[in-house]
Amino acid sequence: MEPRAVPGESPVCTCCAEPAVVYQSVTRRHLCGTHLVRDVEERVRATIQENGQIHAGDRVAVGLSGGKDSTALLVILSRLLPAWPGASLVAITVDEGIAGYRADTMQAAESLTERLGVDHRIVTFRDLIGDDLDTLLVGRETQSCTICGILRKKALADAARAAGATSIATGHNLDDDAQSVLMNAFRGDLPRLVRMTGTGTSEAFLPRIKPLMAIPEKEIASYLFVQDLFSVLPECPYTKYALRAEVRALLSDYECRHPGTMQHLIESKKMIERYCAGTPVMEPLHRCRECGDPCSGDLCQVCRLRHSLGK
Ligand code: SF4
Ligand code: ZN
Repeated sequence: MEPRAVPGESPVCTCCAEPAVVYQSVTRRHLCGTHLVRDVEERVRATIQENGQIHAGDRVAVGLSGGKDSTALLVILSRLLPAWPGASLVAITVDEGIAGYRADTMQAAESLTERLGVDHRIVTFRDLIGDDLDTLLVGRETQSCTICGILRKKALADAARAAGATSIATGHNLDDDAQSVLMNAFRGDLPRLVRMTGTGTSEAFLPRIKPLMAIPEKEIASYLFVQDLFSVLPECPYTKYALRAEVRALLSDYECRHPGTMQHLIESKKMIERYCAGTPVMEPLHRCRECGDPCSGDLCQVCRLRHSLGK
């Protein structure tokens, strides 16, 4: 259906006569707040169903940073959950120890879980490795997101296991996945490119699922905004060191000038996955000789990091 717009006025919703709040370039639809909320929740339900991400009786650990993606994820999953009898949620917030950033997002995570009545656990880098991220990064600021990412993944996985979870859900959206495709292509890292499936099929790790992987970032922001759930929170001070920040800016620019670019990147990744099916692109998994976690070499990333940090 062609988008409807009244000349000289704001466009109206393709599904009703209400003013539109968002334009979906891929479906070429304008949507009002009510229809956007319905559409986002339906697409998340379809993603979960098509990829077998949640089953009856599952206990899903939701990585809740308190930012917009994880907030939307927890809200949507708490609404969709009755579809899977016996399934439950536990929200896990990792406090990395980042001054001037974490306090506000922790507070947002706390009040959201209280409002939704979801069990909430908090884990800290200090408990995991004995120091805050700020301290660990002194003189290593350019490696901030690599170090943070490795430790956060470990903290989340440990907390999820301790909470009896059967899977870990993260708030990665379509933009995040498109950025990851491009970053892995830039690095020439095919194994990592085909590993980011979001279907949670790994046997060695607690399955990781990405129910928002079909939803663009701007629709997530609008989804929260129209329900009065959007808050402006501080940005992590280390963002400026991240390769992802450059790729995000580049892709947003392309998406603006060539709508559908991000969707095409995701489609390309799926095509590569199909070509690679049955091809051993990943090194076989071993057990880390120090902690026993599954890894591709002799030592896992966390233990290698501990050594390099002198921990
Ligand atoms: Fe961690 Fe980097 Fe994200 Fe900051 S921007 S929270 S350092 S991954
Ligand atoms: Zn290890």
